[in-house]
Amino acid sequence: MLGLRVRAETPGPPVWKGEYDWRKFPPAYAQVQTRIWAFLFFESWSEMPLTDKFGRAITDLRVSVTDRCNFRCVYCRSANPENHMSADDLLSWDEYERLVRILVAMGIRKVRVTGGEPLVREGVEDFIARLKALGVQDLSMTTNAHLLAERCDRLVGAGLGRINISLDSLDRAKFERITRTKSFDKVMAGIDAAQASPLRPVKINAVLVRGVNDDEVEAFAQFARERDLIMRFIEFMPLDADRAWTRDTVVTGAEVHRRISAMWPLVPVVHERSETARKYRFADGRGEIGLISSVSQPFCGFCSRIRLTADGKLRTCLFSKDDHDLKFLLRGGATDREIGDEILAIVAEKEKGHRINEPGFVPPSRTMVFIGG
Ligand code: SAM
Ligand code: SF4
Repeated sequence: MLGLRVRAETPGPPVWKGEYDWRKFPPAYAQVQTRIWAFLFFESWSEMPLTDKFGRAITDLRVSVTDRCNFRCVYCRSANPENHMSADDLLSWDEYERLVRILVAMGIRKVRVTGGEPLVREGVEDFIARLKALGVQDLSMTTNAHLLAERCDRLVGAGLGRINISLDSLDRAKFERITRTKSFDKVMAGIDAAQASPLRPVKINAVLVRGVNDDEVEAFAQFARERDLIMRFIEFMPLDADRAWTRDTVVTGAEVHRRISAMWPLVPVVHERSETARKYRFADGRGEIGLISSVSQPFCGFCSRIRLTADGKLRTCLFSKDDHDLKFLLRGGATDREIGDEILAIVAEKEKGHRINEPGFVPPSRTMVFIGG
């Protein structure tokens, strides 16, 4: 399968329908090198850990199970109707399971199920159970929680270990403006259900956008203290459908730290270097905060993540210009070994880092909802 690469920048919703010509996509020298290594020193690809050419071990997988969502958050989707991937373009649960099985054999330990909104795809609980049975050590989900209260018990029963819930305002009217929904009470009920379950302590994600919700930093911190949960502040990234992102709209982690620590002393919490968040607990009580400073303080040097999109593309960075079409291999009759070889070569070429802070940066054509955060 050497060189059978489908590599193309695909705008969302991306549908690749052309004939694949491998001569147009010759494997890079480093990819050939990786395959020679695998061949000489390992009996099979499954004994070779997933590592890129910068020596970063790849242990985390984000799996987007749909590009659909019941919200239209201003920093993610457009208010205008967008096209969706067709049912045939989406990976089936069996296809997801096969890919994750291959990836787990190659050293993936953490899997986060995401979307779009993962809870809108029928059968996601069974999928969680299948991932659990594959031996995934750390199994989590990111959700907007609209459907969580009624599904929480089933998700826990299926083996879900942790949950991240998006909540971008504690003010009902502002929440409705940001998400373009009336779902404030349902989301709060979802948070309550998760906090009352083994998923506790729940992580709450807020994307701060200057002039929209940056006035709520202290209120979010107070919320973490009162509810004894982990409040994570995410810097707005240029992955929104409306292309409204500018540097001025980013509220930095440093600003959030300064403002919260002026009210309540913070104590750093030890974390793995590959983790996205710098974590702090409150010196005088319950709750924790996490600062995800992807724009102002990129953590690419320790990145351990790859992403599988709902239409079966492997992405080695949120800001990748290229997708790698694993669905083409799955549906083309490739063996596990051939798919594993392909993944090894793709991962070897993982980008050194995103280029948001470099002159001439161009955002990827896929926006967040079509990638899976
Ligand atoms: N629908 C689910 C949710 O919102 O939790 C899961 C998918 S959503 C794409 C995953 C995460 O990406 C959420 O925490 C969301 O806030 C974040 N996100 C979306 N657009 C973003 C952007 N432009 N910059 C930073 N984070 C973003
Ligand atoms: Fe949907 Fe999540 Fe994007 Fe909001 S952030 S529009 S909930 S996918």
